[in-house]
Amino acid sequence: MHHAPLEEFRKKMGEVIDINVARAVLQWDQEVYMPPKAGEARGQQLATLSALAHRIFTDTKVGNLISALANDTSLDADAKKLVDETQHDYENAMKLPEAFVETFALEQSKAYDAWIEARKTADFKTFQPHLETLVELLKQKAEYFGYEDSPYNGLLDEYERGMSVKKLRTIFDELAEKQSALVKRIVQSPHQPDTGWLDQTWDVDKQWDLTVDVLKDMGYDFEAGRQDKSVHPFTTNFDLYDVRVTTRLHEKELFSALTGSIHEGGHALYEQGFRPEDRRSVLAQAPSLGIHESQSRMWENMIGRSLPFWKHYTGAYQAKFKGQLDSITPEQMHRAINRVEPTFIRVEADECTYNLHVILRFEIEVALIEGDIEVADVPAVWNEKIKAYLGLDVRDDTQGCLQDIHWSHGAMGYFPTYALGNLYAAQLFEQIEKDTPTLWQDVEAGEFGQLLSWLREHVHQYGRRKMAEEIVHDATGFEPSPAPYLRYLEGKYSALYDL
Ligand code: ZN
Repeated sequence: MHHAPLEEFRKKMGEVIDINVARAVLQWDQEVYMPPKAGEARGQQLATLSALAHRIFTDTKVGNLISALANDTSLDADAKKLVDETQHDYENAMKLPEAFVETFALEQSKAYDAWIEARKTADFKTFQPHLETLVELLKQKAEYFGYEDSPYNGLLDEYERGMSVKKLRTIFDELAEKQSALVKRIVQSPHQPDTGWLDQTWDVDKQWDLTVDVLKDMGYDFEAGRQDKSVHPFTTNFDLYDVRVTTRLHEKELFSALTGSIHEGGHALYEQGFRPEDRRSVLAQAPSLGIHESQSRMWENMIGRSLPFWKHYTGAYQAKFKGQLDSITPEQMHRAINRVEPTFIRVEADECTYNLHVILRFEIEVALIEGDIEVADVPAVWNEKIKAYLGLDVRDDTQGCLQDIHWSHGAMGYFPTYALGNLYAAQLFEQIEKDTPTLWQDVEAGEFGQLLSWLREHVHQYGRRKMAEEIVHDATGFEPSPAPYLRYLEGKYSALYDL
């Protein structure tokens, strides 16, 4: 439809998005190619672009344009959605006073430096005063954003709109109880996998080639994206036709580059699946981090860690690594890649223990923000919880409460989205299995077209047109629930560990 104020609005918002994309290109370069001495200048460049985008977006004229359009009854449904979603972002951007944003950024960078120092000496005390400051600022931030019931909801909303402490507690209590019971049964099973053969050196160039082949098979479009190497794997999006991934190669690890590439590939397929007409607008975004994570985890775990997948790809691995995997069967590959072992470090955790790492962080964050514990209590509470959930005794804080970068960035409310990603993935995947009777035959043939079409139709294309819970509900017929994930774990690991 032609509509002058709407055209003006699209043009302005397009400019804001272009500036943010330029920032994203610089950030991608920072992680992938930038020489080490360029860090200071890059920080300045990013700050300038960030301030510029904020200034254009929060201009009163933009605000007036948005309110006029929000009250314009002549807009069609798509235009209305675009205006409503932009208004949501605009109101959030206006809620935080500039002085607060500056103070927060300053304290963040001090806290990050202190966290790096604290990790060197495994001394939480070095980080403690900075975390205390950040927690106070986060409480203020929740007040600025506004919330119902718990101030934590004000923080959660930034990452997972519509979610609440109350809903999470119900879901997480059940998960914590049942997953830790499952882990205990697995650890006690006499049927443990033999993984001694994994202890070899795996040529990184060969690993790289295999990651590229699998990404192509998944349907990732290399004409509209590329893969590079970085220390921390990530996905970034400059446009529908430029969605990039990175991976990390280790010569002692056979699977980590592959699982990393499949994970990021799942994120990237989501972003290559937004509607072309939504380019250069906020609609070409995921509605929450949890739903984004459901896509990466589904590909990584439900597909990449399945037996049919390994029935297809074990041959390709044997051909690449001649003489190293000759006697290894798909079943052995499958058992090795799904080995369950309680460990201290979240990012290395398997599917059975992962959510327990998340739940303990969530419980600590809520207690801090609601004022039930002090920052000084964090190490003791952490150690007590990891003992209860995983039976582990923390030796020092680097393997405990100092391991994640999130708190040093003042990010609280983020962790729960990882566990929600697992739950959404399992719930959507149960439905995919029902709707696609030949799914596993396809996977065994290295064909993922039906799976990708299902995801495009039921998840990807909506962008921010639907909230996370709506996507899950509409695709599966019921509200997000922990039951499918628990059924998935129970079924898969009972077979693997002969429970
Ligand atoms: Zn991810």
